[in-house]
Amino acid sequence: MGDTTQVSGLDPETLRRKYLAERDKRLTVDRAAGYVSPEGALARYLEDPYVQGAARPAVVEEVDAALIGAGFGGLQTAVHLAKLGVDNFKIIDKAGDVGGVWYWNRYPGASCDIESYVYMPLLEEMGYVPTEKYTRGPEIFRYAQSIAERFDLYRRALLSTQVEELRWDETAGRWRIRTDRGDLISARFVCLGTGVLQSVRLPAIPGIESFEGHSFHTSRWDYAYTGGDPTGGLDGLGDKRVGIVGTGATAVQCIPHLGAAAKHLYVFQRTPAAVPVRDNRPTDRAWAESLAPGWHKHRIENFNNLICGVPQEDDLVADGWTEVLGRISVDLQGVNDASPDRQLADFAYMEKVRQRVDEVVRDPATAEALKPWFNIMCKRPCFHDQYLPVFNQPNVSLVDTNGLGIERIEGRTVWAGGQAYELDCLIYASGFDFQGGNLAQRNRFEVYGRGGRGLTDKWAGGMTTLFGYFNHGFPNLFNQTATQAGLTSNVTHGLGEAGKIFAQMVRYGLSNGVKAFDATTQAEIAWTDRLRAMAGARTRYDLECTPGYYNNEGKPAEFEGLNSFYPEGAAAFIRLMDDWVSDGRFEGLDLARAGVAVTA
Ligand code: NDP
Repeated sequence: MGDTTQVSGLDPETLRRKYLAERDKRLTVDRAAGYVSPEGALARYLEDPYVQGAARPAVVEEVDAALIGAGFGGLQTAVHLAKLGVDNFKIIDKAGDVGGVWYWNRYPGASCDIESYVYMPLLEEMGYVPTEKYTRGPEIFRYAQSIAERFDLYRRALLSTQVEELRWDETAGRWRIRTDRGDLISARFVCLGTGVLQSVRLPAIPGIESFEGHSFHTSRWDYAYTGGDPTGGLDGLGDKRVGIVGTGATAVQCIPHLGAAAKHLYVFQRTPAAVPVRDNRPTDRAWAESLAPGWHKHRIENFNNLICGVPQEDDLVADGWTEVLGRISVDLQGVNDASPDRQLADFAYMEKVRQRVDEVVRDPATAEALKPWFNIMCKRPCFHDQYLPVFNQPNVSLVDTNGLGIERIEGRTVWAGGQAYELDCLIYASGFDFQGGNLAQRNRFEVYGRGGRGLTDKWAGGMTTLFGYFNHGFPNLFNQTATQAGLTSNVTHGLGEAGKIFAQMVRYGLSNGVKAFDATTQAEIAWTDRLRAMAGARTRYDLECTPGYYNNEGKPAEFEGLNSFYPEGAAAFIRLMDDWVSDGRFEGLDLARAGVAVTA
C-alpha cells in the first residue's frame, strides 16, 4: 500500500478523528427511532403495484413441505427438494410472482451488485449465462420465473398470498398454515425463506403521512406515474419536481435515471455513499462458451473464499468486492483481522473513493458534500459509474442535510437544513428493516410452536437458535437465514446452501419415519454461547462506524452473539454445515420417531 504512515497528506489520526466526528454527528438522534413501518395511514406504501391477486378458492391441502417465500431462497430449496425426489410441496408468497427482491425492486437501474455469474443460482442446471457481468433487474426477475417454469413450480405456488399464522400440531406432527386467502395448508416441514431485507421501512419524518404530492417507496415503483420501465425512459417526470430520500445502494442505482428524466431532481442526503468503480461489461460470448462443467460452483466458492479471507490461487471475479473484502477491509464478520495495516489500507482506499468524487463532480461544494468519511465496510459499498456524474447536471441538486436528514414535510414542502423544497413527487429510497430477531414483525405473521408458544415470545430476550436454522420448541421448522448462520455478501449462495440442508432433512425425515426434528436446548445454548464467545472483531469495527443497518444503527453491541453471524465467516460455516449434514446424525437435534424422542 506504499507509505503506511501517511495517506495522501492526511495522517491516520486526523482521519480517524474526522470519521468519529462524522459518526457522532449522526448519533445525536435516536437512529432506530428514525424509521417507521408502513402501517395505518402509511399502509398504502406496501401495496403491490404490479399484480392484483385475482380471487381464487381457498386451498386445503396436506403436503410434505411448505416453503414460505418464492425468492431465490425458496426457488433453490424447491429445486433441491425436487432433486431429492420430494415432490409434494407448496410455495407461498405474498408477491404476485416468484423472484422475491427482484419481484419487488423494479426501480429503474436495479441491477445485480454482485457479479451475476456468481449471484444468479443454478446457472449450469439452467444452461444459462447472464448477459452482463452485473446484469439488470428485469433479466434476473425473468430468470427467476424461468426456474419456476423449468422445475414446474408455478403448479405448486400460492402467490399474492400472505401467510397469517403458522401453528404446530403436536398430535399430527404437522404445521398448520393459515393464509389471508382462507387456505389451510398442513405441512410436515416448513422452510422460512422470507428474506432479511424485505420489510419496507420509511423515514420517521414529521408530517410524512400528510405529503400532498405523489410518493412511493423504491420497492413499489409507480411506473403509472413516472412513465418508463426498469430500463429508464421515465417520461412522466419531464414536468415534475422530484425528491428522493436516501443515498444507499438503491438510490445510487436509480438516481441516474431520475436525473435523466425529471424537470428537477433533489437528492436528500443524510450520509454520502462510498461509490467505487463498477466497470460493468457485456458477457464475452467466447468465454461463456468455453466454460467447463463445474465452473459455476467453482467460481461461487472461489468468490466466497476470497471475500471470507480464505486465500485462493486465482481471483476469478476480480472486482471491487474481492478487492475490498479480500485485501482492504475486514469482512462482514470481522474475521479478517482489524489490524493497523488493514486500517491504513482502508484509509488509503477511501481516500481514492473521495478523490474520484473530486475528479468527476465539477462543483467543489457539491463534491465535498458527496465524500464519505467512514471505513468502507461500514455500509454496503455502492460500486457505480453513472451516479456521480449526475451531480454535474443543471437539473440535479444535492441537498446535503449534514447527517441530520429531512426535518419535516408540510403539504408539498419538504424542509431540510432550514430550506423549503416544493415537490410534486417524493421517492423513499429508505431501505428495509434488518431485524433478524424480530421475525414476526418482519414477516407479518407469528409462528406458534410446542405448547402454543410464539417465536416472538421465545426470542423476547434475544434470538437463540442452533446454526440460525433450528429452534428448540419449533420442530421441523427451518429458518433459511444468515442471522446466527454464515453471512456472505453473495446472499443467494448462502440461501442455496441452507436450502440444501433443509431438503436433506426433509428427505431423511420422510424416508426414516421421523415425525419431528427439534433442536435440543443444550445444543442451542452451546451454539449461542459459541457465537458470543467468538464475536468481537466486527463489533469493535462497527463501533467506530457511521450508523446504518450494518451496525444496528450505531448500536452494534446489541447484535453481538444474538442477531449476529457466525464469526468465522460464511466459508467456514458452509464447511461446518456440510460436515454436519453428511454424517447423517443430525447432532444437536432430537429426532422423534413414532412418538418416541431419540437424541441423535
Ligand atoms: P439503505 O438502508 O442502505 O439506505 C437508506 C437510505 O435512506 C440511507 O442513505 C439513509 O441515510 C437514508 N435515510 C433514512 N432516513 C432518512 C431521512 N430521514 N432523511 C434523509 N435520508 C434518510 O437502503 P437501500 O434500499 O439503499 O439498500 C438496502 C440494501 O439492499 C443494500 O445494502 C443491499 O444489501 C440491498 N440492495 C442490493 C442491491 C443489489 O444487489 N443490486 C441494490 C440495492 C440494494 P443514512 O445513510 O444516513 O442512514
